[in-house]
Amino acid sequence: MDIRPLLDALGVDPTAGLAGALSVRSPIDGSELGRMAAASEGDVGAAVADAEAAFLAWRHVPAPRRGDLVRLFADVLRANKEALAALVTIECGKIGAEAQGEVQEMIDICDFAVGLSRQLYGLTMATERPDHRLMETWHPLGPIGVITAFNFPVAVWAWNFALAIVCGDPVVWKPSEKTPFAAVACAALFAQAVRRWSGEAPAGLLRLVMGGSGPGALLARDPRLKLISATGSCAMGRAVAPVVAARFGRLLLELGGNNAMVVAPSADLDLAVRAIVFSAVGTAGQRCTTLRRLIVHESIADDVVRRLRLAYAGLAVGDPRADGTVVGPLIDARARTAMERALAQARSDGGLVFGGDPVALDEAPHGVYVSPALVEMPAQTDIVRAETFAPILYVLRYRDFTDAVRLHNEVDQGLASSIFTADVREAERFLSAAGSDCGIVNVNIGPSGAEIGGAFGGEKATGGGREAGSDAWRAYMRRATNTINYSRDLPLAQGIVFAGGA
Ligand code: NAD
Repeated sequence: MDIRPLLDALGVDPTAGLAGALSVRSPIDGSELGRMAAASEGDVGAAVADAEAAFLAWRHVPAPRRGDLVRLFADVLRANKEALAALVTIECGKIGAEAQGEVQEMIDICDFAVGLSRQLYGLTMATERPDHRLMETWHPLGPIGVITAFNFPVAVWAWNFALAIVCGDPVVWKPSEKTPFAAVACAALFAQAVRRWSGEAPAGLLRLVMGGSGPGALLARDPRLKLISATGSCAMGRAVAPVVAARFGRLLLELGGNNAMVVAPSADLDLAVRAIVFSAVGTAGQRCTTLRRLIVHESIADDVVRRLRLAYAGLAVGDPRADGTVVGPLIDARARTAMERALAQARSDGGLVFGGDPVALDEAPHGVYVSPALVEMPAQTDIVRAETFAPILYVLRYRDFTDAVRLHNEVDQGLASSIFTADVREAERFLSAAGSDCGIVNVNIGPSGAEIGGAFGGEKATGGGREAGSDAWRAYMRRATNTINYSRDLPLAQGIVFAGGA
């Protein structure tokens, strides 16, 4: 597959050294898209040094001016939406509609960040001392490291980058080794915005470092990076978190999910089934928010399973560029092996598996295609409690609502959750402190497909980070609490009388 015309259209410099030991393949047909050199320790150090130098200048640029650069970046993204989405489809295999949605998400977060650039508010608090003022100011944090996963190769970076830039922080980005070309394209598009900008943008506002866990670990270790925002598996988070913590760096972790939906007897099943299918098979089950566990009331379980089997049997699996395809390929053969192992384990735990078979495409014998699997489980066994990054939906039955919530929360991860019910008491209990323990809790909508306006992230083994909207920007800034005395006296807090120094 020749991606040079696309890279060309996206303004990637053809002499930019896109060669090296790292082979990048398209999941669509397994063909090599190109090669990339993995960053050496020296390359990583140089990228961080550039970002550090950029920070010294960028922190002085007023935030609304910084926002103006992000506004231009959004314009460039709008103009290049189709081409960037096409590259995302080729590199990570998601269908066209979802790839376009991903680029739209980049545009949305840029728009959000532009507004935010005039709203980096601190509080002014009542002080207990006369003629004093107590307030807080938010300052840029410093250069930051962003590590991203293959399945959202551009949007997750943009969530971080758009906010970081308006907050005053240059970014060193290590994209997934499986999707580096999308990152190169993003950097080229940002360079276009910089060229259009009326101000002086320092060169190191964005630096890319390519490669796998090695360069990622170097970023984690580097004390010049004040925040490491890392998206990927729980295993990656377990490796990165102690390293960053040991140097007292700030962490924003967006790790694996094991997302569930409770379907109650009063649920609108037409809506629920549509939501289930989108959430469980979209992006071929390779979203962090993919629906992996369905907890259905026993009185409606047979009906729900029957409807789902019907829907699953009609799913078009194939080339994600083709009209009508709803399920594209898995990222690679390892993902299929993980899926096969999980299904074998589920069978041996007493699960009844529907679907989950390899799908051979004549035109793409080296692509990894599977039919999504629906697995009725007698209990929530260990394999159900693990995240297998593939389209497997486990179905569990419940009788009592309290049991449904217990089952729901009985996993390590805590990303996204949802309930379908027309019963306001159930809905409110699910949303309450005694309900779902996830970072995202929805009612009558699936767990996947978040908007950028809310804070995105999850609890427990999902890592506790929050990105995108609401007040997620605070992770990218440092807060200073200021007390200002404009009196002619020096009263101490808590009424302390201190005789010394009089
Ligand atoms: P992965 O953990 O294999 O890789 C993610 C990134 O981390 C890559 O850039 C990789 O090179 C890097 N990395 C891996 N090990 C590292 C280490 N020891 N030190 C430093 N960097 C390291 O994940 P993946 O297969 O690319 O993506 C799938 C996983 O990501 C799933 O678990 C999914 O749930 C999760 N994910 C989470 C979110 C979220 O927002 N919570 C979003 C997307 C994906």
